[in-house]
Amino acid sequence: MSARYDRQVNMPGFGIKAQKKLQNSSVLILGVGGLGCAVATYLSMAGVGRMTLCDGDVVGLSNLNRQFLYTGDDIGKSKVDCAVRAVEKMAPRVKVGGINAYLTSDNADVVVPGTQAGSYSMVLDCLDSFDARKIAIQTCFAHNIPLLHGACEEYQGQVLYMDPGLKDYVCLGCYLEKKQASTPMIHPVWVLGATAGIVGSMMASMAVGALTGTRMLKNNRIYCYDGMCQEIGKLSAHRSAGCPVCGNLGSDAEQ
Ligand SMILES: [Zn+2]
Repeated sequence: MSARYDRQVNMPGFGIKAQKKLQNSSVLILGVGGLGCAVATYLSMAGVGRMTLCDGDVVGLSNLNRQFLYTGDDIGKSKVDCAVRAVEKMAPRVKVGGINAYLTSDNADVVVPGTQAGSYSMVLDCLDSFDARKIAIQTCFAHNIPLLHGACEEYQGQVLYMDPGLKDYVCLGCYLEKKQASTPMIHPVWVLGATAGIVGSMMASMAVGALTGTRMLKNNRIYCYDGMCQEIGKLSAHRSAGCPVCGNLGSDAEQ
């Protein structure tokens, strides 16, 4: 085992077994913005075996307060191309690939399952629109792939793990339904770079736990970060039969 991973392999409860599980894992990261940069960085440096990055955007100047895989020299270039190069440089053992496209209903059934059966151990939602997230959730559920959602705005963020293989899953739509948070955006998302870094790091930490089996993730918890008072809290969520995202995906929905 490479000394590169010494500091985590020697953690109590981790060990070579967990590291090998990480090396045998493959993840799809949807979006390489503020969250995606942090997730791709920490998962690749931790030693995830394969990683695919998906984003159709180009680097802009306003990205550079938080999207630390890019520099001013990258402005106007494909985010995915730049991010793949950055990951290859900092984690040369990871097999990293890129899909230079936004996730849409037209390509989701190709992008999310990958090119082989069982391609991805987990999908990470680092997207920035509810419409794209809805497509990601529905496609992951259709292909039975665990999905870890993250979102952030200003000083706040949230993380939600959705494993369609577990009966008590709650999807983002179930949670947002009551909050009516899917209203159209009237301006770009304002966000502090550190907020994206913290929430992306929470996602990476939870993903490592789930991929290695060192930590069981609860399916019906929303983890909320509040940077105004530096608190992380947990909310219980319940599946909604009237959910616009998962309401018609299964027969075991609860009211
Ligand atoms: Zn739902």
